[in-house]
Amino acid sequence: MDALVFEGVSHAYDDVTAVASVDLRVAEGEVVCLLGPSGCGKTTLLRIAAGLEEPQAGRVIINGREASRPGALLPPEARGVGMVFQDYALFPHLSVAGNVAFGLGGSSAARRAAALEMLERVGMAEHAGRYPHVLSGGEQQRVALARALAPKPGLLLLDEPFSGLDIRLRDRVRDETLELLEAEGISTLLVTHDPEEAMYMADRIAVMRAGRILQQGPPDEVYRAPGDVFIATFLSDVNRFHGTAEGGAVASPFGPLAADGIADGERVDVLIRPEALRIAKGAAERAVAATVVAVHPLGHSSIVDLRLDGDGRAVRARLPGPTAPEPGARISVVLDSSQVFVFPCDAPKSLK
Ligand code: ATP
Repeated sequence: MDALVFEGVSHAYDDVTAVASVDLRVAEGEVVCLLGPSGCGKTTLLRIAAGLEEPQAGRVIINGREASRPGALLPPEARGVGMVFQDYALFPHLSVAGNVAFGLGGSSAARRAAALEMLERVGMAEHAGRYPHVLSGGEQQRVALARALAPKPGLLLLDEPFSGLDIRLRDRVRDETLELLEAEGISTLLVTHDPEEAMYMADRIAVMRAGRILQQGPPDEVYRAPGDVFIATFLSDVNRFHGTAEGGAVASPFGPLAADGIADGERVDVLIRPEALRIAKGAAERAVAATVVAVHPLGHSSIVDLRLDGDGRAVRARLPGPTAPEPGARISVVLDSSQVFVFPCDAPKSLK
């Protein structure tokens, strides 16, 4: 049984359509990441799942039970859903243990024991008697997670739960959270605008834009085969130029690139990921000579701006490793065509 199903769910605030005909499932034990730019409707969809917002069309089914449809809403507390908000929303007047015990039933001793057990699982047991305002962001996040998980929800909803943390702490807390979700088999819908976070956390990604889900699938599949220009450019940096399809290909400085299924004479968008460009070793076929214009070392890789010989086109490469050629160096580059995407230019404007 699926933990969460959205069936044709739509929602508007006055004349702003926030969510439009969304169909999405979270299978039991699955982590699904809802990925999209600010304002695309991710939080609204999460709030609809939580019962904090009523859909104007469609329905929501949680663990086999209809939870929302227009005019009929199962209250949030009856849904068996845990939620962690972006700001954690801990109760400031309750201790850490009090926060985690808050939504639990039973005697106060049983509630305290269950809270402590959950705090143990997130590595926060020794902070049980402290208050939220003395905790670091990472500690607060773990308490919020413990509070959401303590009632053993059938579904966990996470709204940008790592965005308040600095980058190193975020990596660690993300790892710990993922471990916990996997160990407990918790079905999760996580909202993020960070493609890397979605790639890292998700069993499946759903890319959203302007209230609609444009593409869903396992992270590697979505990354390898983005469905349109918007998705490709949202997932990673790209070099972009235009061309014209001819005989199922488009001309480029690197030779013809496949433009499968695109009619002759049609204008196309060509997207090349910076990591698709590599320094040629020896006399490689289809290598293109280039001058290094600028180098931005990032440690694990370097961003290298190049000017190609021939048409003088500016392109950006991401070269692995800590060393890169100096500005002014003459190099030759080859292209990994698996990181090149060609789309017809006449796709609807909303998808660009
Ligand atoms: P972010 O990543 O910035 O949190 P989001 O993808 O979660 O954005 P939502 O918060 O769901 O997007 O908002 C979707 C659209 O609905 C936006 O245009 C937003 O301005 C609008 N919106 C959200 N909440 C309300 C509200 N309470 N009243 C009116 N409009 C709203």
